Amino acid sequence: MVGGSVLWFRHGLRLHDNPSLQNALEDRHTPFYPMFIFDGETAGTKIVGYNRMRYLLEALNDLDVQFKKYGGRLHMIKGKPDLVFRRLWEESGIRKICFEQDCEPIWRARDDSVRDLCREIGVSCRENVSHTLWDPDSVIQANGGIPPLTYQMFLHTVAIIGDPPRPVDDVDLKGVNFACLPKCFYDEFTVFDMVPKPEDLGVFLENEDIRMIRWVGGETAALNKMQNRLAVEYETFCRGSYLPTLGNPDLLGPPISLSPALRFGCLSVRRFYWCVQDLFQQVHQGRLASTQFITGQLIWREYFYTISVNNPNYGQMAGNPICLDIPWKDPESDELQRWKEGRTGFPFVDAAMRQLRAEGWLHHAVRNTVASFLTRGTLWLSWEHGLAHFLKYLLDADWSVCAGNWMWVSSSAFEALLDSGECACPVRLGRRLEPSGHYVRRYVPELARMPVDYIYEPWRAPLEVQERAGCVVGRDYPAPVVDHRAAAQRNRAAMQDLRKMLEKAPPHCCPSSEDEVRQFMWLGDESQNEITST
Ligand code: FAD
Ligand code: MG
Repeated sequence: MVGGSVLWFRHGLRLHDNPSLQNALEDRHTPFYPMFIFDGETAGTKIVGYNRMRYLLEALNDLDVQFKKYGGRLHMIKGKPDLVFRRLWEESGIRKICFEQDCEPIWRARDDSVRDLCREIGVSCRENVSHTLWDPDSVIQANGGIPPLTYQMFLHTVAIIGDPPRPVDDVDLKGVNFACLPKCFYDEFTVFDMVPKPEDLGVFLENEDIRMIRWVGGETAALNKMQNRLAVEYETFCRGSYLPTLGNPDLLGPPISLSPALRFGCLSVRRFYWCVQDLFQQVHQGRLASTQFITGQLIWREYFYTISVNNPNYGQMAGNPICLDIPWKDPESDELQRWKEGRTGFPFVDAAMRQLRAEGWLHHAVRNTVASFLTRGTLWLSWEHGLAHFLKYLLDADWSVCAGNWMWVSSSAFEALLDSGECACPVRLGRRLEPSGHYVRRYVPELARMPVDYIYEPWRAPLEVQERAGCVVGRDYPAPVVDHRAAAQRNRAAMQDLRKMLEKAPPHCCPSSEDEVRQFMWLGDESQNEITST
């Protein structure tokens, strides 16, 4: 019985801005166990595609490499967290377990079982808020006990609470007393001496699609990527604008997104938030009183987390108080499968769905397009199908953020969109977002030689043009899965009926204004993110 502190990694896969690491090393002489436990669910591994599992394993490897520099390692074990910790206590007498708060209700049973164990055996249990800018519970409290129902109300509430905390200091790992696992662990659990491969965990590559963009997991890569991102933010601020990815979607260039790094916590959201805020101050020298808008996208993340904390049914329609009961139809023939596999016959949708499976990432405007295509725009299928698919393949898959966005786009919780047919046409949106057609050519090679005039609607190309392009619709590339125009009209009428029924709806989540809807759905004009009040 020698005592010891555990740092239990789940998300928060980083050393910087890590208050739990600080807690665990309050007494630097105590044996220290940094651990990750494969329990089949943690870090979104319940339904997980190859790319995200690899991203997670790369992030674990990055931690392992960093600990090894100081004579330690990351312990990686397959098992049930409460059982693993009970055995570690019995064998080594650990005194403290530290971890970052996972605020979503889907993790509650896992964390309660560890909290209960700690209470039973008298081990100190330290949970820190560092995955979100504000503690969702404090936001709910400040809002009178319920989550803010609109984004504007959320902004208002956090303005009362005050700025989010700055990142905590780095911990010096020199001289830390890294501990070894008890011998019996090797008999009782699967212990990985090296970071496993996805295949070792039963996750296999599903298709041999060429990966154009390969995302690399881990803190080291995330911090480097943030430097690139800050350079882009800097140029954008100097031009008198902000939110570069939103204002000017670039579907072809190397993505500057940090969402997977933020999801796994390889990058601290507070570090990113404050770097952007400080940079803006540096460029504009405090000439604007409020600067929330420059980090507004990060607030959406907080907003969706906060609405979900007390709603275990947030990811489904049944029993979900914020979700409208829209009478979606059951999938007919293979239409859902065609959407998932990128064979709808609508090139922009198909390019996106293939990019998702090949790379695990899509631009926000593209997510909006395929999500509205599946739901209120075209196919009239439930957003729950879309959520399940996204949760498997997205690198940044995040139960509450993903479900919140699906409910938003499908008008299920944020119903001002019910009347808006404008944002649903996959042909018009494709042309607008990527006029060159190269995005389609990249991910749908069948259409590589289709002239740009027809690239978003190849069924309109005269047969000789299709033949010259080596792509005859119906033979080399599918005909449209439905008549989009007829479907859109039908859906719009159905939404208008719903809207009438809703006039007496009780208070629920909704957009704050028409402007917000336009901004969210990328319907604004290109100058929407100009700073005008300096
Ligand atoms: P930026 O515009 O640079 O924003 C910075 C950060 O803010 C992002 O990295 C992300 O952490 C957060 N953010 C941005 N937009 C949103 C938003 N609408 N809602 C919540 N947070 C946001 N994002 C996820 O992180 N995980 C998901 O599972 C997810 N599922 C989505 C599903 C659908 C149907 C839609 C329409 C959107 C979804 N998003 C999700 C939101 C958004 O598309 C991504 O966060 C964004 O594309 C990431 O790109 P970026 O880092 O360049 O964004
Ligand atoms: Mg980002």
